[in-house]
Amino acid sequence: MTATIHIIGAGLAGLSAALRLSARGKHVVVHEATAFAGGRCRSYHDASLGMTIDNGNHLLLSGNHAALHYLRDIGAADRLIGPAAAEFPFVDLESRQRWTLRFNDGRLPWWIFASGRRVPETRIFDYAALARLLWPPAGKTVGEVISCRGALYARLVEPLLLAALNIDPPQGSAKLASAVIRETLAAGGRACRPLIAREGLSATLIEPALGALAQRGATVRLEHQLRAIRFGGKRIDALDFGGETIALAEEDAVVLAVPPYAAASLVRGLDVPNEFRAIVNAHFKVAPPAGTPPILGVINGTVEWIFAFPGRLSVTISAGDRLLGTPREELARTIWAEVASVTALPAELPTGLPPWQIVRERRATFAATPAQDLKRPGAETAWRNLILAGDWTNTGLPATIEGAIRSGNRAAELIAGR
Ligand SMILES: Cc1cc2nc3c(=O)[nH]c(=O)nc-3n(C[C@H](O)[C@H](O)[C@H](O)COP(=O)(O)OP(=O)(O)OC[C@H]3O[C@@H](n4cnc5c(N)ncnc54)[C@H](O)[C@@H]3O)c2cc1C
Repeated sequence: MTATIHIIGAGLAGLSAALRLSARGKHVVVHEATAFAGGRCRSYHDASLGMTIDNGNHLLLSGNHAALHYLRDIGAADRLIGPAAAEFPFVDLESRQRWTLRFNDGRLPWWIFASGRRVPETRIFDYAALARLLWPPAGKTVGEVISCRGALYARLVEPLLLAALNIDPPQGSAKLASAVIRETLAAGGRACRPLIAREGLSATLIEPALGALAQRGATVRLEHQLRAIRFGGKRIDALDFGGETIALAEEDAVVLAVPPYAAASLVRGLDVPNEFRAIVNAHFKVAPPAGTPPILGVINGTVEWIFAFPGRLSVTISAGDRLLGTPREELARTIWAEVASVTALPAELPTGLPPWQIVRERRATFAATPAQDLKRPGAETAWRNLILAGDWTNTGLPATIEGAIRSGNRAAELIAGR
């Protein structure tokens, strides 16, 4: 009888494992608790805006090779858009200064030597500090390895690490920061081109994956939540979905690709990251004025990044826990005032604010501290037919699309290699 690989969770980790395994001819069934695939990376129809938006703006970089491979595999690589070169326009809300960081393509960072391409008010010597983050001592925070002050920190290191680690950078793991810098800045501009799913996350990363899975004969069961696992000595014996129990045959295997808190409730004794950071997104239904860049970095504001989509301006605020208690209307007003001031839109439209939505994902990612990073388990477990996947497993990267996809690929390799 053909072995079945059960994949629990249809986020990017679960989908990437399912894609790899079904491409090798394995019989795959994906079980997802909710009514939709995509997990923390998905689109939904927002009634108050009357449009489909993403649960959060997601940025990929051209050096995210596993994510780009995933997109090619599902035939959706052309749905990511971005500039031809690694360019990041910024505005400082305090000084009103504007500049564009322009990384050169190769690994040798000559952009640092060109005053028109590097961060304004920085000197070449300042960049040597970044080298310290490339090989940090174990267990240290970013704040213990580099000085978190000055123009280079405020205008490059902080925006980059805050977005990639989703934590106030001084508290962040220097090891994870190092991985980000090695795969982006240190790899040259070719790895730093910003890429956005302009038609939405689901249309780009999720729906084409479901199409590819269907073509490869995989089954996706939505609203099918795993309630418990029956453990044997060295293997797991059955999956309990409430009304239905699936017994596992000798060659069957399970990839558990659920968030860490769900994994800990299903697997006894599993130590997982248990602190999280929020991400706040604000969406305004308004046509971006001509010339608004697709992504704009904002310094010295509540807003951190502004994304321009057709008919909509969207804002991302990472490590946004301090904003979880702010009333929604107040937050929308604060954010809109900043957006209006940098895009030259009126602070008050005749109708007040444009139609808006605030989405606060409380547990957007695990807290990327050294202590939480140590709690990340590897893919293999004490049970030989149970493999873990997810952005919170020990990928060596912070919780990102790239990390989630690499974890799914790794789970698939472990199963296929048996
Ligand atoms: C607002 C926001 C902005 C972000 N921005 C970026 C960005 O700019 N760039 C970037 O690279 N990353 C970003 N991320 C992170 C990225 O979205 C995640 O790293 C990635 O989506 C995680 O995928 P995953 O498969 O590991 O987990 P998840 O997406 O959490 O998937 C887990 C799935 O398991 C399901 N599940 C849970 N319990 C069960 C059960 N018992 N049975 C069956 N199914 C179950 C869940 O419903 C879910 O679908 C952002 C995240 C958020 C929230």
